[in-house]
Amino acid sequence: MSHFAPFAGERIALVGLGKAGLPAAARLAEWGADVTCWDDKPAGREAALAAGLRVADPALAFDYDALLLSPGIPHLLPRPHPAAAAARAAGKPILCDVEYLYRAVRAAGSAARFVGITGTNGKSTTTALLAHLLVAAGRQAVAGGNLGPAALAMPLLGDAGIYVLEMSSYSLERLATARFDIAMLLNLSPDHIDRHGDMAGYAAAKAHIFDRQRPHDLAILGQDDALTAATPVLARLLPISAHAPQPGGIWAAGAVLHDQAGPFADLATARALPGAHNAQNAAAASAAALALGLTHAEVSHGLQSYPGLPHRQELVAEIGGVRFVNDSKATNADSTLCALASYPRVVWIAGGQPKADGIAPLTPWFPRIARAVLIGEAAPAFAAVLAQAGVPHEIAGTLDTALPAAAAAAFSGAAPVVLLSPACASWDQFTGFEQRGDRFRELVLAMKEHA
Ligand code: ADP
Repeated sequence: MSHFAPFAGERIALVGLGKAGLPAAARLAEWGADVTCWDDKPAGREAALAAGLRVADPALAFDYDALLLSPGIPHLLPRPHPAAAAARAAGKPILCDVEYLYRAVRAAGSAARFVGITGTNGKSTTTALLAHLLVAAGRQAVAGGNLGPAALAMPLLGDAGIYVLEMSSYSLERLATARFDIAMLLNLSPDHIDRHGDMAGYAAAKAHIFDRQRPHDLAILGQDDALTAATPVLARLLPISAHAPQPGGIWAAGAVLHDQAGPFADLATARALPGAHNAQNAAAASAAALALGLTHAEVSHGLQSYPGLPHRQELVAEIGGVRFVNDSKATNADSTLCALASYPRVVWIAGGQPKADGIAPLTPWFPRIARAVLIGEAAPAFAAVLAQAGVPHEIAGTLDTALPAAAAAAFSGAAPVVLLSPACASWDQFTGFEQRGDRFRELVLAMKEHA
């Protein structure tokens, strides 16, 4: 068998040697490309050298066919990385790893389908959920992209394969030929404005998910905010909503999903999809799954058996009738609002490194908080806001002291749920939201063992 080398003769500069960059460089080299890597941090360069890759700074002389730039590195705003500026000056494209995956799959002669998922919130959930629906129904599907694994760490699938890819606004601006058979934009609210200039720039970046689609492809478009609903699409439009009926589309009425033919799934019993925000995610994933040929029954079963993603309202354990929920991914008030809206009464663990708007946007949901246990830098400021609203609270300082305090309040009947949904970044006490959520899980499971 001859060696598969779709990129033979291509000179690719790859900048950003993190979780996605290093495997991407190795894969492209394996597929025949002439790869030169760079990272501004010495550790990244050393890892590349150790992997036998060539290392040089492409900003010094851009003598390459294209630049594969890690999504975390800006090519324009707030200021272009020198390698991006050099590629632009040389008139060469700046691409992302999904573009190369797409080219490789097509070069292999595979008709595998590509589903692209974007939006401000719910991308990871919808991506993981759709892949779960497909796999549970016996289809060959893999989820990846932003959510991981990185695009160039995914397997090459044959004609029956389905790639379900979470796309960030940064990656969407770096596609050139990739076309999604099914593309979806869930919602838009202000985020990453530093990278896109303004809301219009951000919305325009997200709308690239629909680029190059043909009339018989599918565009799934959220209708619950005006900006998303107004996005122009070239393909067949399928509207989705978390609450409003959509002729020809999919929507939720309460917790029940509907399409034109009637109700087909009840999310009230889908344990990993609580709350109205998940109705939007489930409507979008169901729309794609049905378009890919699943039956209503297959979709309904898959929604029930979806296990959820770690750190997103993850049910860690139930101890003595109290549910312990890890929502460490909620790093701002908007996300925490989704969680508070999902449970009638909670003992709430919050705090960390605060965001600009603090917890003020959560005020309407304060009546659901039986008691707040506060951690991290934000604790004194959050305590002041809660005191003013008359919400019982205490400052625990760290998660290790917060959990027993919260559990004690819940066990004494304050609420049936202990919710970690910090509304803050974690950097003051943890390496990231994952470490914070992992610690919460560890503490809860240790408590369960001794219960
Ligand atoms: P993303 O990948 O876009 O960051 P996730 O699926 O990881 O989104 O969800 C992150 C958090 O965002 C969730 O814990 C929840 O609080 C909130 N969220 C999820 N889906 C939605 C949605 N459709 N609309 C609004 N907020 C959402």
